[in-house]
Amino acid sequence: MKILIVEDSRSNLLVLTQYVERFGATVLPAENGETAVASFAAGRPDLVLLDVVLPDIDGFEVARRIRGMEHDGEWTPIIFLSSLGKDEDIEQGIMAGGDDYLHKPVSEVVLGAKVRAMGRLIQMRSSLVTLASKLDVANQELQRLSASDGLTGIANRRYFDEHIAREWRRARRNASSLALMMCDVDHFKLFNDTYGHQAGDDCLRRVAGAIATSLERGSDMAARYGGEEFSVVLSETTIGGALIVAEKIRHAVHALQIPHAASSLGRVTLSIGLAAAVPELNDPYATLIAAADRALYQAKHNGRDRVCRASTASAG
Ligand code: GH3
Ligand code: MG
Ligand code: MG
Ligand code: MG
Repeated sequence: MKILIVEDSRSNLLVLTQYVERFGATVLPAENGETAVASFAAGRPDLVLLDVVLPDIDGFEVARRIRGMEHDGEWTPIIFLSSLGKDEDIEQGIMAGGDDYLHKPVSEVVLGAKVRAMGRLIQMRSSLVTLASKLDVANQELQRLSASDGLTGIANRRYFDEHIAREWRRARRNASSLALMMCDVDHFKLFNDTYGHQAGDDCLRRVAGAIATSLERGSDMAARYGGEEFSVVLSETTIGGALIVAEKIRHAVHALQIPHAASSLGRVTLSIGLAAAVPELNDPYATLIAAADRALYQAKHNGRDRVCRASTASAG
């Protein structure tokens, strides 16, 4: 343990140094306030014994400056030493950031006991800090898990719902266009029937990967909407821009070349419905989803493995 002792009387400083060194701590000595502050900054002691009456700035001011130097979550115990023994002095010391108050002359036994007690507090506090940071990491992991789909690793439906609601509000505020894609794997029931569920799961993982890697902007978001359906939200994107991204995704899934013997298309393909809108006041985002859904239905109806865009004025 490293202890900063601030005491302007040489003889007192010597005695205190002997006490402290006898119970195995090392000493940073300071004989005035300014030296104490500089020494704290340079040496970062574990504890401060602080005389109140000093030749330059008083101990209360030293305590305030020390507290000002500590970063968030840091704490160094400060014990005031003074022959001023009035209640108000004790109060002022605590208000200035002190943690305890000892009357001079200080007894070696009492000093030893106080330092040990502070040491216990330091230890408890540091294990709390460690625990808090572990909790923080666990919370972040939980948050990540609660937002991602267990099978594919991309965002899940819950995250999609939050994201589109948020982006819809933002698009309304900025009068910008929000685009949405609903993607559905073609003849996927047949795929499962032919190759089994394990192969089906693997296929979904690869399709999700192809969709995710087709997105370039940080603000683009792909989610597993449910089953073999995926949704992609493109902020500040018009229908024209979204069409380019949709074709890129469709081609990326083609390029996976996953055989699908039961499909007339011979391999795993995607149908994509597309819609974009600048939200009107009181227009719910459900209208955008409904428009993309209709476009997806159209893509299926027209033969699958294609992109269709919504034609409605409100969301197209
Ligand atoms: P369409 O081209 O019209 O979309 O036909 P489809 O067979 O893809 O559509 P349908 O909705 O009839 O079937 C979807 C299939 O997706 C049925 C279901 O078993 C399968 N599926 C949904 N979720 C999963 C999953 O997590 N893993 C696997 N292996 N299959 C899934
Ligand atoms: Mg003094
Ligand atoms: Mg489907
Ligand atoms: Mg399907």
